Amino acid sequence: MKVACYYNNHDVRVEERPVPEPGPGEILVRTKACGVCVADTMEWYLTPRAPLTLGHEPAGVVVKAGAGVTGFREGDRVAVHHHVPCLVCEHCRRGNYTLCTTFKKTHIHPGGFAEYFTASALHVERDTHLLPEGMSFEIGTLVEPLACVIHAVKKAGIRPGDSVALIGTGAMGLMFVQTLAFWGVRKLIVYEILEWRQQKAREFGAPLVLAPSADPEEEARRVRQVFASDGADKVIVAAKDLRAMELGLRIANKGGTVLFFATPKPDESIPLFPSHLFFNELTLTSSYSADHLDTRLALDLLRCEAVNGAALISHRYPLERLSEAIQQTASRQGSLKCVITFD
Ligand SMILES: [Zn+2]
Ligand SMILES: [Zn+2]
Repeated sequence: MKVACYYNNHDVRVEERPVPEPGPGEILVRTKACGVCVADTMEWYLTPRAPLTLGHEPAGVVVKAGAGVTGFREGDRVAVHHHVPCLVCEHCRRGNYTLCTTFKKTHIHPGGFAEYFTASALHVERDTHLLPEGMSFEIGTLVEPLACVIHAVKKAGIRPGDSVALIGTGAMGLMFVQTLAFWGVRKLIVYEILEWRQQKAREFGAPLVLAPSADPEEEARRVRQVFASDGADKVIVAAKDLRAMELGLRIANKGGTVLFFATPKPDESIPLFPSHLFFNELTLTSSYSADHLDTRLALDLLRCEAVNGAALISHRYPLERLSEAIQQTASRQGSLKCVITFD
């Protein structure tokens, strides 16, 4: 089978390897589509561990079930989540499944950017999903990224009627726009610097899309005016730009929550003013990955089209052109979600 080996964004080599055998409790999946994530473009994160087979947003067909598998059989169309929690450690007991050591250690093998992969017994038992009839494999690849969005919406404690500011409208930002509408958020300001993305956000239903002014204080005044309150109850920063994070901290309402969703480089920092947090009782939080409960809701939102999956996929590439797909994703020029497709 063909397997893509990542060295850096410009060097991805397709190698030939034997098709793996599923062990007891495992399934072998023939990959039909796998999404390219911004995380697949972060060289500072990936190259120290290269060569790597990436691809954590796969959908495909079960071609072989290992001994003892009862939940799935040959021919089933599935989306497989790449990380699964143990459910019993201290973090799992508190519901912080994405912080579980087992969660971080579990992977599909060798990854979604390969013609076949195996999923472990834990994956099969806890976070593998039959695609509903009529749902394409491409849309199935959105289960994982959408689950990350849902994870963040839950972590931010967003409730119906909250006023929300969303900063950044890449593919994830557009999923936020739709998920927030489903969540009962009617008061939403979306910030985006790039014009073509502003237009996309409007197409996806964002009621008010703005380019942030250079002065965060001025922006805070504008938010107060739009929401007729002291700021946004919840702020989601879905942009890696440090200025976006500083803006987020300035436009939050008293008692509000700011959630950092995007990942800057480990050596990047922003000034934090504890007195501003203190006098406004701000909560600053963040959100990493998604758990087995989030993926279930994500599949539902895609099935009922509360989130329009088809409109989110803009580019398709064969495995041989993965490097191009990664560069396209990193460029932020004209693409939403890039997907690798297999015949
Ligand atoms: Zn991802
Ligand atoms: Zn655990």
